[in-house]
Amino acid sequence: MPTNNQPPRMLRLKDGLKDGLGRAITYLRVSVTEQCNLACVYCKPRTGALERAEPPAMSRNEVVQAVQVFTSLGIRKVRLTGGEPLMRRDLETIVAGISPEVEGRVHLTTNGFHLARRARGLRDAGLCGVNISLDAAERGAFERLTRKDGLSRVLAGIEAARAAGLKTKLNAVVLRGWNEDQILPLARLAQAEGIQVRFIEFMPYQGNGWGQDQFMPATEILGLVQEGLGAPLEEEPVVGLEEGPARIFRLPDSEGKVGVISTLSADFCDRCNRVRLTSRGELQACLFGNRPVDLLEPLRNHASHEDLARLIRQTLTEKLDCHPMRRGQKPEFANGMWQVGG
Ligand code: SAM
Repeated sequence: MPTNNQPPRMLRLKDGLKDGLGRAITYLRVSVTEQCNLACVYCKPRTGALERAEPPAMSRNEVVQAVQVFTSLGIRKVRLTGGEPLMRRDLETIVAGISPEVEGRVHLTTNGFHLARRARGLRDAGLCGVNISLDAAERGAFERLTRKDGLSRVLAGIEAARAAGLKTKLNAVVLRGWNEDQILPLARLAQAEGIQVRFIEFMPYQGNGWGQDQFMPATEILGLVQEGLGAPLEEEPVVGLEEGPARIFRLPDSEGKVGVISTLSADFCDRCNRVRLTSRGELQACLFGNRPVDLLEPLRNHASHEDLARLIRQTLTEKLDCHPMRRGQKPEFANGMWQVGG
């Protein structure tokens, strides 16, 4: 592994990484590929997107080198996402390269389709936890949403992840008219399995056909769970964004929990601690804006650690204070969600 971007020890974690508003940036989400084996209705346009997905520009060494620059500045947790990260055969090597940089705090977001046979190897490589996207608990609804008949494969992936000892959570994006009838079955699945499921508000993104009529706010989602289970749910104390932006509620008679992520109805921009790196090696300071800034070319041209660190800090000074939607503005998108990494 080349180490020319490794800073001297004394430079590591010197001031921490802050954006222009003084928010501490400690969490990096890295998209390792744009490619995906599913075509979820809320993520990809119906045509063309699969063909447009580029093979990952960053090699595994480049991913690790880029992450090393971020961790030297104060990033403490990394999540690998995509596209579908399990499309990369070298994912285990990437995890093994990153894990020591963040003292094991490497997580994965995946659709789980290929997870059953890789969960143990990923754990052995140093993966700590996995968020598995599961938007439906019934086969037909799953296929309508993902455009693939894959529910049993994902359920096997969930089982394998838990058996391997990975911290496992489920994520479900809720679209009115598509899967609100799956909210209760998913909550019941979480209750029966003693697992956490988090319902995510449907967000507008390039090419995903977002419409207000499909948007279901977190309060309504939570109301459906409580009504369906016939009991008010007890909320857990907020633990901070390091653990994620969800409000979490205990499910009765179970270790299981439900969470809601209210990205649109009650955003958490004031406490934002995250930044993104795309599989093309671009730094994206906010999911909903800011033009991506290329880090790959300087990395390939052997830019010094100081130069890369300066470029990252400079980009973060322009990180948006809040999502443009909060001000009633339309977000600017350079890419689709599958390209930026959700
Ligand atoms: N392929 C992986 C997966 O399915 O989890 C990782 C990539 S996916 C883009 C990452 C996360 O973004 C998933 O939890 C997905 O449900 C979420 N996501 C994608 N598009 C979204 C949207 N329009 N609104 C809310 N969440 C979205």
